[in-house]
Amino acid sequence: MSSDCIFCKIVAGSIPAKRVYEDELCLCFADLNPQAPTHLLVIPKVHIASLAEAEPAQSSLLGHLLTKSAEIARAAGLDGGYRVILNTGPDGGQTVDHLHLHLLGGRHMTWPPG
Ligand code: 5GP
Ligand code: ZN
Repeated sequence: MSSDCIFCKIVAGSIPAKRVYEDELCLCFADLNPQAPTHLLVIPKVHIASLAEAEPAQSSLLGHLLTKSAEIARAAGLDGGYRVILNTGPDGGQTVDHLHLHLLGGRHMTWPPG
């Protein structure tokens, strides 16, 4: 828990969020500013500032976030596909310094991203 981290506060319940899925390792909630009909964030409950800060010992936790994202996408009915994004650092467009996967779906995604 990082006391000044907004996503740690969402994990703790001190900031409200539309919670979609949760287990002992991760939390999934709706993005406040959705960029697609489905726009969810999947985060580890433990504070990891970014992918660049993740330790090799956290590999299975990172894998858990990915496989849970696929399950959540299935449960959300994203049968036509979806996009998982992990913005990392200032050049990667990361604005919240708690590692999070964006799960976007419900429309056709373009490539390359901006
Ligand atoms: P990033 O730009 O770091 O990849 O993504 C951060 C995301 O967090 C953005 O899509 C933004 O809309 C979302 N976000 C920022 N603050 C909050 C919040 O307080 N609640 C929720 N649900 N989403 C947030
Ligand atoms: Zn945090």
